[in-house]
Amino acid sequence: MASAAAHTLIEAVPAAVADPGMTAIWEQALDEIEAGRLTLDAFVAKQVNWIAQLVEHCGALTLAVPVEAGPTCPICNASMRRRKGKSGPFWSCSHYPDCKGTVPIRKDTRRS
Ligand SMILES: [Zn+2]
Repeated sequence: MASAAAHTLIEAVPAAVADPGMTAIWEQALDEIEAGRLTLDAFVAKQVNWIAQLVEHCGALTLAVPVEAGPTCPICNASMRRRKGKSGPFWSCSHYPDCKGTVPIRKDTRRS
């Protein structure tokens, strides 16, 4: 299950990360620094900016990560999603609000 989720994440990461052309650009930048045409600070600032954009982009993505193995809805047999309620997390039918099926999460019943 974890490896499937990791695979989805890799697919979602912008192609730029895995692009060998990106490495070439970095190497070129390093040559520029060596030649004194680019300061190290400017290079680092560029990287920081680029990574910040990347993180922002990834944060906005909705990953189709396989849902952790949850129960199926007792009413309509659909898959269920973890939701947070007033009394803690519980499983809610993925067809909510059309279907009101819920299943308590076992971990939390121990707490009382
Ligand atoms: Zn249901």
